[in-house]
Formats: sequence, structure tokens, C-alpha cells
Amino acid sequence: MQAVNGHYTNGDAPASTEPSYERVQIINDEKQFTPELTNQVQRWGLQNAGFDYDIVSVFGSQSTGKSTLLNRLFGTNFDVMDETQRQQTTKGIWVCRAKGMNVMVMDVEGTDGRERGEDQDFERKSALFSLASSEVLIINLWEHQVGLYQGANMGLLKTVFEVNLGLFGKKSSDGRSQRTLLLFVIRDHIGTTPLANLRATLTADMQKIWDSLSKPSELKDRQLSDYFDLSFAALPHKILVPDKFESEVQELRKRFIEKSRDDYVFKPAYHKRIPADGVAFYMEGIWEQVQTNKDLDLPTQQELLAQFRCDEISTAALSEFNEQAKPQRRPIESGKVVEALGNMMRNWRKGALDRYDRDASRYHQGVYKRKRADLVGVVDSTLSPLFLGQLKNLHKACLSGFKSEMLEGMRGEGYNFADVVIAARERCEKRFVAGAKEALVEGTDWSYEEELSLLRGEVQSVADQCRKDETKKMINVIERNFKRQISEPVELYLSKPTTDMWDKILSVFRETLDKMESSYLAKAKSFNSTDEENATALATLRIRAWTALRSKIDEQTADTVFLGKLRAYFEERFRYDEQGVPRVWRPDDDIDGAFKKARDQTVELIPLYSKISPIDKSLEYTLPSEPSDYLTSTEDFDFPSTLIIFSETKALDLGNRFRRDADAYYVEAKRSTVSSIAQ
Ligand code: GDP
Ligand code: MG
Repeated sequence: MQAVNGHYTNGDAPASTEPSYERVQIINDEKQFTPELTNQVQRWGLQNAGFDYDIVSVFGSQSTGKSTLLNRLFGTNFDVMDETQRQQTTKGIWVCRAKGMNVMVMDVEGTDGRERGEDQDFERKSALFSLASSEVLIINLWEHQVGLYQGANMGLLKTVFEVNLGLFGKKSSDGRSQRTLLLFVIRDHIGTTPLANLRATLTADMQKIWDSLSKPSELKDRQLSDYFDLSFAALPHKILVPDKFESEVQELRKRFIEKSRDDYVFKPAYHKRIPADGVAFYMEGIWEQVQTNKDLDLPTQQELLAQFRCDEISTAALSEFNEQAKPQRRPIESGKVVEALGNMMRNWRKGALDRYDRDASRYHQGVYKRKRADLVGVVDSTLSPLFLGQLKNLHKACLSGFKSEMLEGMRGEGYNFADVVIAARERCEKRFVAGAKEALVEGTDWSYEEELSLLRGEVQSVADQCRKDETKKMINVIERNFKRQISEPVELYLSKPTTDMWDKILSVFRETLDKMESSYLAKAKSFNSTDEENATALATLRIRAWTALRSKIDEQTADTVFLGKLRAYFEERFRYDEQGVPRVWRPDDDIDGAFKKARDQTVELIPLYSKISPIDKSLEYTLPSEPSDYLTSTEDFDFPSTLIIFSETKALDLGNRFRRDADAYYVEAKRSTVSSIAQ
């Protein structure tokens, strides 16, 4: 044997070398409880047995073959007193797992204090402890002890009953009293007195003991049968009739194994409802109470145990959960949408709760449920930021997906803007909702509605911005087309000045502008633009068109171009005759008259060009003088001033410059006559 923390473990019997059947001294002779029992329960392989295990212990005088009986019944290896020494020195309580059964067998070793006149403390405490922690207490006695109050340890039993009732007699919170089976095993039964008679005697003795107990006042009406069932067995003399002894023991053993028997001993009513993984802690608590005789009742003890164990189980479940959840925190924080996060979160959460439920649900229900709610709270508060982070990242990803889909859809010509928006928006929302739903965890009050409506708002403003850009682009295209289309006609009309020149130009302008406007409106339909947006866009278009016309006119009336036009007009009249044939001046020609006429006709053109003014006043174009427009750079636009091509001084200046040019033609014409005379 070896001592661990002052407690012996393992016997020297060969069977003890197997961990599953090691025995452990749970109380040593210093009356200390072993810290090793939890480990030992594990080594016995009973850690996960739940309620599927039983506890049996034995009570009786010294050297009445208790250990021998237990070893025979359960295949344990408790020490049996050496025949030659007839004396036992160690004190303590030993536990061993029964061979092939989920049963913890408890054996008490000790001196018979009463007979030896020693301190009875240990035997009392050990008896009380056995009674309080076991389902079945075997009361072992010689046949000849039956009916002998003192010799059969009845006095000790009385004391033990009394303290037990005081300490543990109250009902537990679920309304049950702790029930225990007292199994009387009568040893060295000769057979002359039938078992039935012995049984009657023992039952009467027990009743006597019960009646004589001093009970707590609130329990004074409680009956023996409220707490105990009595059962009986008799065994023949082991030394005299060993074979019979052995076969009777085997017969008795069946009562511990065969659940279908009426006299099966481990009835559910006796079970203490402590899961196997908590039994060490529970027993230690009972020993503590027995030792200190604290007036604690068993239900409180069960609650304390439940609190302790449920906390432990919860902590273990939580640490596993945290291990799982931790690696996903960083990707979420860095903005990643984590694939199948919801699935993972559901698994972690379920894993933690399943684990907790598996181990903790067997404990006191109130405590178990309370601690479970705490666990759920902690788990969910860890998962919630992951969920919210995932939503945020999903929102970002979907929005940028929407943007690029918009750009993609608006590439090239011939797309319908509204269709592009609708398709992209639908895909964006679908993707978000699918991702968000995946991340939901049942049993939480999480929702993604708020984030979805935020996303919708942002999608809308991106779409609006795109529409504005589109409108700008379209107006630019229309403006370019407009310029192209008016260029030639304006050039033409300005090069052939007639009195209705402006009428023609303005008509072309109006026609072209009308076409542009309706082409804008046709396209704008697919934009879902508002009326206000359309009005602004059209106003812009008109100003741009007018400005384009004006710059075309400016180009055609720039000084040199305009002087060229005048010169050409003058030349046509002065140097060519009515048939368009070049004139050859003769001395008798009226050069002066022709010159004057041509010059004056030409000069008359200047006021015609100076102002955009059609004969048909209905053609006069008007524009608002102050456009409020987000599409144009808004320099002040003063429409009436744009009608003036040449100011009065400018007109005078141009007239003078033309006259000088004309004079040169006159001189040239004169010279040509002189030279023709000279020929
Ligand atoms: P314990 O002190 O009650 O645990 O008794 P033990 O099991 O150590 O046995 C004490 C002595 O009684 C040993 O010498 C055993 O051989 C002997 N013994 C065991 N069983 C019986 C029995 O059924 N009848 C008799 N007469 N002796 C027994
Ligand atoms: Mg013994």
C-alpha cells in the first residue's frame, strides 16, 4: 500500500492494480476526507455515469465478517482481518468499485470503541456518513446478536438515526424525503430459527428504536417507514459450510444485480440524485457536515453542490466556446465577411449549451436553469459583436458590389438606366439579406432590419448620384450633337446675308433644339428622373444650345471673317456685273456711281449683323435671365445682351475699316481704266 496525502490507496491484492477497481481510503484515521476521490471516480470510469451508479455501505460490529462479505458480493479487495492476529489497527472508510457493476462499495474499518472503552466519535461519524451517503446500508450481524439490543449495536444505530434525522431528515426541495434501504444480513445462520422469526424480531427492534428517538419537533410525527425500508437475508456459516455460504452469497448478489426482481435493492427511490461527476464533492460536503455537525439540511447541501458544479461545468463549456470563437474576431474586425459565420456561431453556441446541459442538468433544477441563463447571456454577448460586425462588413461589400455593378451596367450604349438600377439593387439586397439571415442565431433577439434600411438608403443615394452623372453625360452628348447640327446652316445663312437671315437661323435653332429636347426627354424616362430634375436639365440644355449658337455666330462674325464677308459682298457688286461677269472698267463707265452703290449696300449689312433680330417676332427666343442650375457653372447669364453681336462703336469701327478696304478697290478700278487708256 502507498499513502497519498495521508490517505492509503490500493490494496495489495492483485486485482487492485487495475485502475477500474482500485480502492481508495476516502476518510483516513485523522478523519480527513481525501482530495483524490474525484480523480478516483474518473479512474473507475464512472465520471460520465450520470445517475447510473449506486452506493452501498456496511454497518456492524468489529470482526463480523463485513469486509469478507463485501469482497464476496462485489469482487472488491477490502482488507480482511488476519485470522491469527484478531486485531485491527487502521481506522477509516474505504471505497472500491464493484466488479462489473456501476456500484461504489464503502467499507468501514475501525475499532469497536464501545467494547474497548475508546472514543466512540469515529464509529458514530462513520456510521452516520455511511447512512447519509448510501442508498443501501447493509446491517451485518451474527444470528446470536439478534434481539440483543446492545450487542447488535442497536445503541449506536439509535444515536445515528437521531443525528441523521436532525441533520438530513427534512424533505428536499422537490418534496421527496431521502429514503434508504436497511438490508439486514444475518451471519452464521444455523437455521433452527427461521428467517421470518428473526425478521420479526429485528423489525420490532427497529420500531422500538424509532419510537424512542428524540425527534426535532417539526418531524415528531414521522414514521420509520417515511425514511427506511427494511430487507433481510441470512447467510450460513462460512467456515463450517463454505459451499453453502458461497452459494447463498451468490444468491444474495443477484439482489444487487437483477433489476426485475421484487427484492432488487437499488430501487430508484433510494438514489440520492447526485450525478457521478459530483458525487465526490457531495460526499465531502456530507462528511463536512457530519464532522462539524452543522445544522444544514440536505437540500441546501444539494443546492450548494449544484452551484459549485454548474459553475465549473459552465466555465469549462465557456472556455471551449471562447477558443472556437476567438479566431473569427480578427477577420471580422478587419472588415471581412466570414463565410458561414452563422453556421459556426450556431455550432459553438449549441456545443456550449449541449455540453452544459449534459453535465449540469442532473443537478438541482433551479440552480441549473439559473446558471444556464447566465451562460446563454455570456455566450450571446460574445457572439453579438461578431454578428453586428458581419452585418457591417456585408453592408460594405454589398454596397461596393452595387456600385461596380452600376458601372458595369452603364458601360457602352443602349442600356436602360432604370433597369440597370433595379437589377443591381435587387441583387444587392438579396445578397445582403441572404448573408444576414445566415448569420442569425436562433434563440437570440438579433435582427438585421436596421442595417438593411441603412443599406437601402445608401444604395439610393449612389443610384441618385449615378443618375445625375448620367444626366450630365447625356446633356454633354446632346450639346455636341447640337453644335454639329447647327454649324453648317448657321455658317451658310451668315455668309449669304438677307433681311430674313435671322429668321432662318432662329428657325434652324428652334428645330434642332426641339429635337434635342425630345431626345433628352425620351432618355430621361428610363432614369426615373423627377419633374424638377427634368426641368433643370432642359433649362441647362437650352442655355447650352443658345451659348453654342452664339459662339458659332461669334466665330462667323469675328473681325477678319466679317470684314471678309463684307469685302466679298462688296466685290460681288462692284467687280461683277448683274450676270456675274467681271467688269472691265472703261473710262466712260460710272465708276464713282457703281462704287458708291456697292459700298452703301454693303455698309447697310452692318446693322443687320449687329443684332439677332428676326422679322417674324414669334421666332424671337427667350431664356430666363437667371437659371438656377446645378449642371452648369453658373456665371451670370444675361440673355438680352447675348442678342447684341456688335455694339454701336464696334459697328462704326467695322464700317470704317470696310470703307478703307473699299477705297482700295476704288483706286484699283480707277487705275485699271488709266492703264487701259495707256494701252
Ligand atoms: P470485519 O472486521 O467485519 O470486516 O470482518 P472480516 O471480514 O475482516 O473478518 C473477520 C474474521 O471473521 C476473519 O477471520 C474472517 O475469516 C472471519 N469470517 C468472515 N466471514 C465469516 C463468517 O461468515 N462466519 C464466521 N464465523 N467467520 C467469518
Ligand atoms: Mg473489515
